[in-house]
Amino acid sequence: MKSRWNDADAADKSLLELRVYTSRLLGAEPSLVLHGGGNTSVKVREKNLFGREEHLLYVKGSGWDLASIEGKGFAPVRMETLLDLAALETLSDSDMVRVQRSAMTDPNAPTPSVEAILHALLPHRFVDHTHADAVVTITNTPRGHERIREVLGERVLYVPYVMPGFVLARHVYEMTRGIDWSKYDGMVLLHHGLFTFSDDAKESYERTIALVSKAEAALPSSVAIVQPEGFSVWPSSDDLVRVATLRRAVGRSLGAPVIAKWDRSPVARTFTDRANTAEFAGRGPLTPDHILHTKRVPLILPSTFDDASVAASIDAYAADYRAYFDRHTTGRALTCLDPAPRWAIWPGQGAFAFGPTAARASVVADITRHTRQAILNAERMGGWVALPERDLFDMEYWELEQAKLGKAGVAPPLQGKVALVTGAATGIGRASVEALRAAGAAVVALDIRAEITSTFRGANVLGVRCDVTDRAAIDEAVSLAVQSFGGIDVVVANAGIFPSSQPIASLDDETWDRTIAVNLTSQMALFRACAPFLVLGHEPAIVVVASKNVPAPGPGAAAYSASKAGLTQLARVAALELGPKGVRVNVLHPHAVMDTALWTPELLESRAKHYGMTTEQYKRNNLLKVEVRSKDVADVVVAMAGPLFGKTTGAQVAVDGGSDRII
Ligand code: ZN
Repeated sequence: MKSRWNDADAADKSLLELRVYTSRLLGAEPSLVLHGGGNTSVKVREKNLFGREEHLLYVKGSGWDLASIEGKGFAPVRMETLLDLAALETLSDSDMVRVQRSAMTDPNAPTPSVEAILHALLPHRFVDHTHADAVVTITNTPRGHERIREVLGERVLYVPYVMPGFVLARHVYEMTRGIDWSKYDGMVLLHHGLFTFSDDAKESYERTIALVSKAEAALPSSVAIVQPEGFSVWPSSDDLVRVATLRRAVGRSLGAPVIAKWDRSPVARTFTDRANTAEFAGRGPLTPDHILHTKRVPLILPSTFDDASVAASIDAYAADYRAYFDRHTTGRALTCLDPAPRWAIWPGQGAFAFGPTAARASVVADITRHTRQAILNAERMGGWVALPERDLFDMEYWELEQAKLGKAGVAPPLQGKVALVTGAATGIGRASVEALRAAGAAVVALDIRAEITSTFRGANVLGVRCDVTDRAAIDEAVSLAVQSFGGIDVVVANAGIFPSSQPIASLDDETWDRTIAVNLTSQMALFRACAPFLVLGHEPAIVVVASKNVPAPGPGAAAYSASKAGLTQLARVAALELGPKGVRVNVLHPHAVMDTALWTPELLESRAKHYGMTTEQYKRNNLLKVEVRSKDVADVVVAMAGPLFGKTTGAQVAVDGGSDRII
């Protein structure tokens, strides 16, 4: 591991600014900290409002990631209170959190890390704590304790595993009373992570890098990655349908739709292709806090499965989970968590990560990717040894975690659902992508424009360049949707072109053919490609963006009006065919949506002039005298995709401010 320290970047910084700087350096290495793991602190003496000096620990607040932390992500806690807490014989973790919060000098700061007391106990100004993969991997092997000592040497303290929080702080307090700290650069917590410390920010950071580098050098050289025979870049359509079946079954076990991310990378396949995968993957996570994201063990799928066999696998997983809960809950009033798996291994085919949202599934994907690598390494060092089940249970059912249950609030209406939107780079399509994401869905955004791959950012969106008139491109987009998110629940058929006005007498064949191809034939191909996944989706729906030209056509727009009328009829047939399988198909007819790329200011002005209106009058030229914006149409798209239209299919709704020609 290379140091990222840069003298110029670190110049002229206050202690807290330096703390932010090196915390971000640590956070930039996923093999040191992942998703909220690890924490850092700095001890500062500063004057309060009354001019009195206070000794404070600025420690990472919960909810902040080291990679992106800012000064306000550190909670200022009075050292005196933290040291008093360390001297207590016993303390519940919820009391600890309450007292720590009351000892903050800023009530608006985040809740201090549960390791705050431990940070306070270490006498050095800067303390850096990571869950370094390499260090933890070595401790998770037979003779792990001796082996890590051989690797890192005697300037490191070695602490056997105890539960993080007060118990750990208390253990270190007892262990280190009266020791000569000048003999130590760091501390390894077995099965958990690494601490380094120093009065100098750079030295504390560099000690982490040096110790982790030693641990990395002691790992076996990387496992040979073999591309399995007959591997195809694109999974078969049968396998894609299996994935959607799996996603549906996991969603049923969770009681809500889930996002399923399929990792088919050679590394994942190498891991899952081993004869004893089920055995060693079933021993437990890399660090105990991962259990909150991944549960203790993955679901092991049969190498080939259908609806019935995947349901049986998940039922067996759930039964095992409840038995594990019963084994360890004895005598305590704990609430059993849902028994759904968080990740799965499909022998020879890769691994899955599940989550109620795409962001949560991505966290699981990242953590399990690191875990698989660590397990492969440990297997070459004598075997993977995770913590005993009981210690993992104590982490999963920690009082602080149990206290969070039921406080999550109401999930957005489309949480866990997957939507595919065509024509997504601009106008109504783009607004629909944003509205669907805001409603909780993960979205696959298709457009013919190359910029679609960078139009949206986030774990819950995938931009795919796709010419919808190209059948192979549609199949690839559908395949990417299923690989990325596990299935398709919502299709928004929005892609379309509006050719310039031509009377039929002079309408050229090319305009006619192209308009029918884009606006009608491609939508049929899209429905056909998505149907096998929609029927396996969660409360599935197709939303068709047609046009007011269907009920009220205009002269000069034969190709456009006929294509959109054909599309509406296609949607009605789809409603008839797919209704019995639970898929709803509804149509909306927008009109005069002028905040789209189509309507340049010049065009708007010339059309308004043509009708003898100002542009403002022209925009509101409807019964309600309202302007219809892309966002308004997108809100109706979301309504049609969600529970509001849960009992409606085959409907046509105008979003046009009211038209006397249609009413
Ligand atoms: Zn930790």
